Amino acid sequence: MSKKPDSVARCSSRLDDVTCPSCAGHKTVTATGIRYAPGFSGPQVVEMPCFVCDGVGRISTFQVARMKLGESFRHHRVFVLGLGLRKAANKWGMKAFELSGIEQGKTVTDWTPPGWLDASS
Ligand SMILES: [Zn+2]
Repeated sequence: MSKKPDSVARCSSRLDDVTCPSCAGHKTVTATGIRYAPGFSGPQVVEMPCFVCDGVGRISTFQVARMKLGESFRHHRVFVLGLGLRKAANKWGMKAFELSGIEQGKTVTDWTPPGWLDASS
C-alpha cells in the first residue's frame, strides 16, 4: 500500500564521494538560453552551475542511489503505468514538483509508487 510521503526533505549533506554523473565533474552544464535584454542576439549556449551537484562536481553515493531509485520510479510511472508527471502526482495526492524531486533523487522519502514492487518482482 502506498501513501503520501510523511517526511520530505532535501538532502543537504555532501560527502563528496563520487564524480557527479550529470556534469561529469565539470561543475557546470550547458543550456540554450534566450536573452531579452538590450543587445538581444538570439538563442545562446550558456554555462550554468550543475543542478545535480550544485556546482560542486561531486555527490555522495547516497545521492547516486536515490537518483537510480528515482529513475526506476519514473520508468515505472511512464512505461508500466503510462502516466504523465502531473496526472500521476495528482492521482497519488502530491504536487508535481514533489514527485519530480523524488524521481530526480533530490527528495529523501520512504515513499514508493503504487504497484512498483509488484512490477519488479
Ligand atoms: Zn554536477
